[in-house]
Amino acid sequence: MIARVSLEIALRKEFDYSIPAGLAGIEVGARVQVPFGARKIYGTVTALVEESGRPNLKPILKVIGARGLVTPKVLRLARWMADYYCCAPETALKSVLPEVVRNREEGWKKRLVARVAPSAAAALDGIKLSSRLQEVWNIIEERRELPLTELLETAETTAATVRKLEDRGLVEIVPQVTERDPYRDEHILPTHPLALNPTQAAALKKITTAMNDAGREDGGRTFLLHGVTGSGKTEVYLQAIARALDQGLGAIVLVPEISLTPQTVERFKARFSAGARHTLVAVLHSHLSAGERHDEWHKIREGRARIVIGARSAVFAPVDRLGLIIVDEEHEQTYKQEEAPRYHARDVAIVRGKMEGAVVVLGSATPSLESYHHGRRGKYALLELPERVDGQKMPRVRVVDMRQTARREKGIPIFSPQLKEAIAQRLERGEQTILFLNRRGHSTALQCPLCGYVAGCPNCSLSLTYHRVEQKLCCHVCGHTAPAPRICPNEKCRNPAIRFSGTGTQKVEEVLSKLFPNARVRRMDSDAMKRKDDYRRALGDFRAGRIDILLGTQMIAKGLHFPNVTLVGIIYADMALHQPDFRAGERTFQLLTQVAGRAGRGDVEGEVIVQAFAPFHPAIQYARRHDFAGFFEQELEFRRSLTYPPFSRVALLTIRGRNEDKVKFLADHLKRGIEQAIPRKGAPAPGAPDAENANFGLILSGPAPAPLLRAESLYRHQIMLRTRAMSRLSRVLAEVRQSLALPEGVLLSVDIDPVDLG
Ligand code: ADP
Ligand code: ZN
Repeated sequence: MIARVSLEIALRKEFDYSIPAGLAGIEVGARVQVPFGARKIYGTVTALVEESGRPNLKPILKVIGARGLVTPKVLRLARWMADYYCCAPETALKSVLPEVVRNREEGWKKRLVARVAPSAAAALDGIKLSSRLQEVWNIIEERRELPLTELLETAETTAATVRKLEDRGLVEIVPQVTERDPYRDEHILPTHPLALNPTQAAALKKITTAMNDAGREDGGRTFLLHGVTGSGKTEVYLQAIARALDQGLGAIVLVPEISLTPQTVERFKARFSAGARHTLVAVLHSHLSAGERHDEWHKIREGRARIVIGARSAVFAPVDRLGLIIVDEEHEQTYKQEEAPRYHARDVAIVRGKMEGAVVVLGSATPSLESYHHGRRGKYALLELPERVDGQKMPRVRVVDMRQTARREKGIPIFSPQLKEAIAQRLERGEQTILFLNRRGHSTALQCPLCGYVAGCPNCSLSLTYHRVEQKLCCHVCGHTAPAPRICPNEKCRNPAIRFSGTGTQKVEEVLSKLFPNARVRRMDSDAMKRKDDYRRALGDFRAGRIDILLGTQMIAKGLHFPNVTLVGIIYADMALHQPDFRAGERTFQLLTQVAGRAGRGDVEGEVIVQAFAPFHPAIQYARRHDFAGFFEQELEFRRSLTYPPFSRVALLTIRGRNEDKVKFLADHLKRGIEQAIPRKGAPAPGAPDAENANFGLILSGPAPAPLLRAESLYRHQIMLRTRAMSRLSRVLAEVRQSLALPEGVLLSVDIDPVDLG
């Protein structure tokens, strides 16, 4: 047999290698090391074939792990991904295995244990131990087996002494695998299935009925579970998973990284891994150590863990007999990977479900427009949970017109009188407040009021953000930092009264401490939460009532519920509205709804105060009335009128380089290449910016400078394509890209279904 191997270097080509006798049992999906020129390179076996067209094949050098790591089903998924997302197959293949699993031969952690040897009984006969040895032996005999380090400590002895016992045949010292469990210190109490309310029961029934067809090729059905926050979606997931397990099927639960809070993981562990019924739940996310990730992954590959909960890349988990994939908060942007392969985990989940006949459940209180549209049209089965489980009302939302506040106060304060008053009330009553502002740092710009100087990033077309706590200026795109000047750096000006404008979380924190000197405030943003445990600790403190006001960025927007929070304040609701992105309104609506959902989850009714400069914008008004359907209808019309998703699919081509002329030139060249590759029905109308094509429904816009023209020293120009036939367009783009010789110093990235248009 001959192995066909896809190497880790993106050559878009596979190579044949012979299989040496010692490695005869090699499987498709095995990770191998092979010679390539003078180098040794890792790769994946994609097929075993009888014959190769080439003579003198070199042999595979070694195999990593005992068996194939990429299962045939995941291999098929990776191939689809390469085609659809227009990336090299090697790149797609690389992303389906965690780094630590891919190239490490021996990933398990081993430690030495001392245990009673099988020959001990016989060996004991007629020997006399010194009192020191007898003491050590007593400990081992009593415990039967214990880690060597623990033995040395307890017995206050040395390894040499224990070796003496080994020499006499009483004791064995052997290496043993120890699993690194990231949740070993948690004591989780078991929970039991709750009696479902009628809407939950109806939803569960439809999901489990569809699961009866699980495993049938192309039997996978996709559901969209639209339920307001607190409507009991998670309970439906839990019971659907229990049914899957009953049928011998496995499940994957995807959660956006940020809400991978202990709370979420705990709920799954409490139901399945605590108490009598014990099913291993494997957890995969970026906060695990490499070793922990290795162990969690292999528990899945070995079939010991049948439930996987994880972020984006957990969609590739090697779960055998997969029955169910749940995508919680399906609208979240974090499901999209922003480097090649630029896949969207929700969409990959749906494709995987189809391939393996697994049921896919997308859940959200604020589904993406695309998913809800598919739900309405019957492409997905739409399940609605319109009410909170506890019968509680949605919180009351008040919108404060900041233009009026600004007029009255002759300036723009951070806190309107309404919000100030509401916070004071909560402090008085001992209730908690969450404040939300989606911008970290202190001030967005350092500006000189005399000469107009603005501190900009030398690498990006963006102003630097002032971070007061760290006393520096930072670029939020490239990470460039500089000391904050005390006087205007402009030689001709040197104004000592340089000012900061725009508000970030650090400034809010500062103003809060002046307004409410006795309040206990905690800031939660990526600057304040640098270490692995910070996030968890802050939430723990908040839950325990050691914090009065939790102030944060989107980090606090989701998934958390705290019964004592009765007020949520949104400092600047329209911040995201003005971004040059057709999803700006949708994002604002989602964010407001999610943040508002944090209020009033206990006995006291919640209140939400939204400060806005565009208080009558539909995204804000529909969010105020908790009216998802209303927002959906009007937003859909907007998308229809401009042929944006869900009425098309978008491909965004970004050309980057240090030399803007070269970038522009290549962008024009690329545009012509695409136009030639897609036969047009007729020439576009004179003067029309967009060329329409009957087959693809193609709309080509650009090239044009990207909204962020320069980032990390590179100029960026973009071409946007909209089409009804993305799979076909992807193929064309792959060909065009192959035939295009990129000049030195110019980069091209293709982003299919982009979520970030910047
Ligand atoms: P969601 O995921 O939609 O936000 P959850 O599943 O977290 O909602 O449910 C909110 C709260 O209601 C949780 O504390 C949960 O335990 C509880 N809950 C869910 N379903 C029921 C039910 N049928 N009966 C009683 N309590 C329930
Ligand atoms: Zn920068």
